[in-house]
Amino acid sequence: MPDCPFCRMVAGEIPADVVHDTERVLAFRDINPQASTHVLVIPKEHHPTAGALAEADPALMGEVVAAAHAVARQEGLVAGDGAEPGYRLVANTGPAAGQTVHHVHLHLLGGRDLGWPPG
Ligand code: 5GP
Ligand code: ZN
Repeated sequence: MPDCPFCRMVAGEIPADVVHDTERVLAFRDINPQASTHVLVIPKEHHPTAGALAEADPALMGEVVAAAHAVARQEGLVAGDGAEPGYRLVANTGPAAGQTVHHVHLHLLGGRDLGWPPG
């Protein structure tokens, strides 16, 4: 997708602070962080939303979630098999959720009390 910023990032045309890189998944720090850990986890292949990706390639969606968990562990957010201190994964989908980049990305947020429900 020529005008997609995240496809351009995968292609190396836009710089990224990469924290995790596998054959099919890339994770990098958000340019406008909302928590001390704010990482975006994406499939390298372009899909518009998490739901569309899960329908098209459920195994790849699983790889994206597993990569997010690996980054959370790297960031000190996963203690053993428990959830302490924990983290949040968010997949904004469509205008009501404020999705601005139409290449699926999971926001991995952690390092502060995240509150619930979100605003
Ligand atoms: P959305 O609102 O679509 O769920 O989130 C898009 C996210 O992408 C935002 O948190 C925004 O800060 C981040 N973002 C947009 N462009 C770039 C970029 O060029 N580099 C990085 N690292 N993050 C970006
Ligand atoms: Zn894309």
